Amino acid sequence: CGIVGYVGKRNAQDVLLDGLEKLEYRGYDSAGVALALEGGIRVVKSKGRLAELRKRLAVEALARSGCGIGHTRWATHGEPSDVNSHPHSTPRVSIVHNGIIENYGVLKERLVAKGYTFESETDTEVLVKLIDSCYEGEPLKALRAALAMVRGSYALAVLFRDFPDTLFAVKRESPLIVGWGEEENFIASDIPALLKYTRRYSVLEEGDMAVVNADGIRFYNEFAEPVEREVLTANWDQ
Ligand code: GLU
Repeated sequence: CGIVGYVGKRNAQDVLLDGLEKLEYRGYDSAGVALALEGGIRVVKSKGRLAELRKRLAVEALARSGCGIGHTRWATHGEPSDVNSHPHSTPRVSIVHNGIIENYGVLKERLVAKGYTFESETDTEVLVKLIDSCYEGEPLKALRAALAMVRGSYALAVLFRDFPDTLFAVKRESPLIVGWGEEENFIASDIPALLKYTRRYSVLEEGDMAVVNADGIRFYNEFAEPVEREVLTANWDQ
């Protein structure tokens, strides 16, 4: 339902929670974050309000990270619960997802045959394991190969363990934008999540992928060609 991603010098955890709070108006039943840390990606998530997630994060007291993704979920596949909350992960990749993977049943069967096991009832867990199964060290290739097998709608923010300073964004039939900061950049499902930090943003077009680092954002269209996307200025009041 709500997606936020951050990479830069700030404490990512704070920016993600702040952005998710700004997206609360969309409604949600659970929330979570994944942060790139030494030793791998750490995920903290919880059914319920953002206050529940904040409590868990306070208990976990994770080291500071400058790169992470966050989500507020509006359940479509699988009841609201801790395990069904996003992010969904494998040891080397973590995703947050808005939308619906229509053919998740057949994809799940194939992944189970390959030895993958599942803990949630979500379509999103199928998607992250599909991406993992396509990963051979090159995130964009893995995303492209996986998404070629998928029918449905998705806005995704993705974190790979091997690329702890980079976020990947993908969009089809569900809105997603990137925000341009000074030595920091953002992903969001909607503008209010960004306004405290920047007013400059670009809108992903159908099938676009974006590679988001602190020092820049690169776009690729649905044919994997590098493309430019216009930088817009939001003149909303916060
Ligand atoms: N289909 C996904 C789920 O049920 C994503 C829901 C959403 O857009 O928040 O977990």
